[in-house]
Amino acid sequence: MKFFGLSAWSSIAVCLSLFTSSCKQASEEPLATVVEWPELTNLDKIAYRVDGFARTGDTSAIRESLPALLEAGRAVTAATVPDNTAQPKQVDTMLADLVNLIDGLSSEELDSESLSSLVLGLHPVIEKLIEAAGMPHLHGNEGPHDGFLHPVFNAAGEQIGTAEIKLHDDAGDLEVWLTRGGHGGEPWRLPIDSTLNLAFPDLEKTVTLAVRDRVDNKDESGATTIFEGATSYFVFPGETGADATWLQGAEFAAKAELRFQDATTGTFALYPHVH
Ligand SMILES: [Zn+2]
Ligand SMILES: [Zn+2]
Repeated sequence: MKFFGLSAWSSIAVCLSLFTSSCKQASEEPLATVVEWPELTNLDKIAYRVDGFARTGDTSAIRESLPALLEAGRAVTAATVPDNTAQPKQVDTMLADLVNLIDGLSSEELDSESLSSLVLGLHPVIEKLIEAAGMPHLHGNEGPHDGFLHPVFNAAGEQIGTAEIKLHDDAGDLEVWLTRGGHGGEPWRLPIDSTLNLAFPDLEKTVTLAVRDRVDNKDESGATTIFEGATSYFVFPGETGADATWLQGAEFAAKAELRFQDATTGTFALYPHVH
């Protein structure tokens, strides 16, 4: 369930941020091998979000995102391929596939089914392109605990917090960390008897997240999360014995909405985090 595998990319980042002085000499060589392809990184981000809409059957959301997706897709050209790309031949091949898919998505008269299947083909090609280029594929683990970040809104629709939601594909268990305000805010602690509801409207299911225990409620990194009788960390199923098997699998995707008190994330596509 834990995620300890540091990629070369994050090792370098950690190295640079923690040990700047001691790393200086060694940093020249690894830095030279870091492949940066910002056009592809940007496309990956958008394509992954739209892939979520396709996997949860939200065609209108796909259509809304299509102009941004096409613009980002057309920006990934042969001229933007980084010089230090790992496998140039594979990159050429995958890039040709990508161009074909973007062309297909540009066609005016796509019915919903064709649109969805083209979108579903897109992220896997991007993933292979990222691999062939020798880049890390990290967008799936954007939060500080490698989960996904979702804004939390009050009843008036204003963002008042952020929920980091981490679904583990092996056991189907869920972890949620709440922070106040936007990304990087302070822990948003609720009384330890609080529960969060995660509803799956299409599956007609709801799960309840609660503290793992009432003593220190450690998260999977071992950090204590209870302070003065309040915590910002909630899990499912914890020790409840509730069935989490239907949440298992790397291919799991479903529309979900997290609710607690008067706050909600609104509907988003829930995916497992990437190991
Ligand atoms: Zn991706
Ligand atoms: Zn995991």
